[in-house]
Amino acid sequence: MLKIDNLQAGIEGRKILKGISLDIKPGEVHAIMGPNGSGKSTLASVLAGRKDYEVLGGSVEFLGKDLLDLEPEERAGEGLFLGFQYPVEIPGLSTTNFIKTAVNEVRKYRGEEPLDAVKFLKLMKEKMALMNIDQSLLSRSLNEGFSGGEKKRNEIFQMAMLEPKLAILDETDSGLDIDAIRVVSNGVNKLRNKDNAVLLITHYQRLLDYIVPDFVHVLYKGRIVKSGPKELAYELEEKGYDFIKNEIDAAE
Ligand code: ADP
Ligand code: MG
Ligand code: MG
Repeated sequence: MLKIDNLQAGIEGRKILKGISLDIKPGEVHAIMGPNGSGKSTLASVLAGRKDYEVLGGSVEFLGKDLLDLEPEERAGEGLFLGFQYPVEIPGLSTTNFIKTAVNEVRKYRGEEPLDAVKFLKLMKEKMALMNIDQSLLSRSLNEGFSGGEKKRNEIFQMAMLEPKLAILDETDSGLDIDAIRVVSNGVNKLRNKDNAVLLITHYQRLLDYIVPDFVHVLYKGRIVKSGPKELAYELEEKGYDFIKNEIDAAE
């Protein structure tokens, strides 16, 4: 589904990702962990196609297409979803209308008719029930005055509505509170199936108690320095990142 090969990227003339390779297959959940400043959010941003980031080498294939060649909207159309890092507030735009636009953009990209009001409402109701979302949240302006937990709920709802093939979720460094963790993990776990995949980026291990990954990768200084099964996350929790840092720094 996603094949990252020796990806190198940076920002403002500084190289941050120094050769990332990763292979994600349908049905898999991969977690990327790592100390602050290791390049986790940079990786998410490059995959999302954010303009301020510069690709310096390597390749990324998504469902057989050259991802780096696609505009961000095209990436979404192909089934990529990026959540969490920078939820925008848009006063005056209801969450419902925002989601409707996003859903219909994706449909348009795929050559499908936009959903009419009745079909859209039906889909909304179905996903609201699944995600346990309250109608009142959806009539409010996008993210305006939302609590941390409400923002997460809203993003997870967007994800449910868009039914992405690959969701990339980047937990911010500040971390999620327990409420938000429940929202995110319930949502992700309900959407998990054999055809889609999740790339979960997190500094902390605790989210992985709720969303159990198939693989854990440790990113440090722009490189994946260790990969393993879910138990690797427990090892990191127990020993901290220092043991990885020491190992790598000693080898340098
Ligand atoms: P992580 O998400 O693992 O904490 P980031 O990808 O945010 O790491 O950051 C990796 C490195 O890139 C850090 O050294 C950070 O200072 C730098 N960096 C990130 N974003 C920017 C930016 N917009 N401008 C300049 N440097 C940046
Ligand atoms: Mg950071
Ligand atoms: Mg980050």
